[in-house]
Amino acid sequence: MSYSNYFPNSYLEARHNFMACCSEGATFIESWQHPLRGIVGEKLYVDLACFGDITADKVLVLLSGTHGIEGLCGSAIQVGSIKTGWHRQADGDLAILMIHGLNPWGMSHFRRVNEDGVDLNRNFLDFQQALPINSLYDQLADVIVPQQWTTKTQVKTFNQIVEYLFNSESQIEDLARGQYQYWYAPFYGGEVPTWSNRVFDKIANKYFLDKQVVGLLDYHTGLGQYSTGQLMTIANHTVTQQNLASAIWGDKLVMTGSENSVAAYQPQGTLITTLQNKLTTSICIAAAYEFGTIPQTEVFNALRADHWLHAYGDLNSEQASEIKQNMLNAFYGDRSDWQESIFNLALSAQEELYTGLKSGVASFCTE
Ligand SMILES: [Zn+2]
Repeated sequence: MSYSNYFPNSYLEARHNFMACCSEGATFIESWQHPLRGIVGEKLYVDLACFGDITADKVLVLLSGTHGIEGLCGSAIQVGSIKTGWHRQADGDLAILMIHGLNPWGMSHFRRVNEDGVDLNRNFLDFQQALPINSLYDQLADVIVPQQWTTKTQVKTFNQIVEYLFNSESQIEDLARGQYQYWYAPFYGGEVPTWSNRVFDKIANKYFLDKQVVGLLDYHTGLGQYSTGQLMTIANHTVTQQNLASAIWGDKLVMTGSENSVAAYQPQGTLITTLQNKLTTSICIAAAYEFGTIPQTEVFNALRADHWLHAYGDLNSEQASEIKQNMLNAFYGDRSDWQESIFNLALSAQEELYTGLKSGVASFCTE
């Protein structure tokens, strides 16, 4: 089997693949058009495909593109799941929903953030409340994203970041947990719920609220060892949900911020936390699946460069092409060994979730 057929080179190709294979087999497809256009002028959408009966008591959700560019991998997993017939397990008891390209603008423009520079997975906060403070960015935002991006400034600013972390109260975790002040810097959570956040809220209101059980896998890339995966959950599950999630995935599942986690931080404003808080009458078992690419310092450098490019650089330059290629290296993989490994890891986790929702959770619910 050639896995490379599932893995797209662009948002346009990803959406084409997804819509083509959903046109046969999906009970229905619903799309929300984004107000902006993509990198080659294409229309952008969040697409939702339902397999099985949407009125089923249980729903298993596969989500791609929360972090834009990472959606190229997530899309491949969704497309491959359909092409291999995995989705045919959906029935009147359990519906499978695939949400494709939640941050389609970032996916098209090869960015992790959205059209507002917002990290969608830090944007799910109650903006009526005081926003979290991240003092590291007060000191370092303009060092992380300097006004000039040359070999010299990269080395100089990287050393400044290391030196600051060594000499201050801040921890390396503060780099990625989220910040709400500096729109041009990475991990910016925004000031209001963004377009993609609002679309996800509509989907949750329409399709998840009345469910007995919701299982969700949110696909991500860029953390961890090359071609390995880590299933992560957030310390927001109730004890019951946590026990069920552990029963389903066993030792594969780790808590973000724990010693074993590839995400050493507790991210703020995540989609999963908000979903769990929203679904007060359902059992919600949700995890992010992170797939590793290149070493962390290179991923961070690719991100810094991309933020520099969109704040100060020329998007039509040769340097821009290099920066975008580095983003693809950091958040995607074009090697067949990587693609095969990631696809198989994802399918196993989906299958375990499916089995858990069908059997384990069902018996729990009737106890
Ligand atoms: Zn991500």
